Amino acid sequence: MKKLNVVVWNEYRHEKKREHIRAIYPDGLHGLIKSFLDVNEDMEVSLAALDDPDQGLPDERLEKIDVLIWWGHMAHGEVNDELVAKIQKRVYEGKMGFVALHSAHHSKPFRAIVGTNGNLSWGRNQKEIMWTLMPSHEIAAGIPDHFLIDEEELYSEPFYIPQPDALVFGGWFEDGHIMRAGACFHRGAGRLFYFQPGHEECRALYNPYVQRIITNAVRWAKPVEFGYEIPEGAPKVHHKIIDEFQQ
Ligand code: ZN
Repeated sequence: MKKLNVVVWNEYRHEKKREHIRAIYPDGLHGLIKSFLDVNEDMEVSLAALDDPDQGLPDERLEKIDVLIWWGHMAHGEVNDELVAKIQKRVYEGKMGFVALHSAHHSKPFRAIVGTNGNLSWGRNQKEIMWTLMPSHEIAAGIPDHFLIDEEELYSEPFYIPQPDALVFGGWFEDGHIMRAGACFHRGAGRLFYFQPGHEECRALYNPYVQRIITNAVRWAKPVEFGYEIPEGAPKVHHKIIDEFQQ
């Protein structure tokens, strides 16, 4: 079976600089994400970080990725603009899916792919109830109608994103704020999922439902042609369209 090539990209600065964050994520946020994705036999998961050579994503690696998961916060501005353009192009061409977690709402790739600034409001860490708004969606598979996240940073509307193509989850916070917490976007021939939990000071990424949602999102975001072979002799109409799209 061909496996999904999944790369978890993390800015990986908070964990190195602050003891109490390193205590929560000793192997980094990306290490924790890899650990729960690794149980899936259909995925080959590896890690990348901002301070790696080529910011973790040299061309020969990027070209093989089926789904790129992105976590960034304090160093969005350091991400190379040429790399961002390559990520956007790869998603638009339908060659790679993109999963943006938490503060990646302000990351360069997220903004480039969805097309808005991704601004939102935020506040103190508190309880959040995650509501499943679209139980028929494959990213909601195995998720109850709602579940509690004990502590997460308040993220609130208005969230400056384009109208999502599917709004799968909504967050309600203790202070009364609401948030479009799990949103799907189709861009060009590719897909992007934004998911709000994942603040570095909290443990939401340990929540089994949060883990299941991220796992589901990887499978949803994968290129639609993943695993399919064009039958011999068939006119390659689809690829012709893709080629023209690249012009
Ligand atoms: Zn945060």
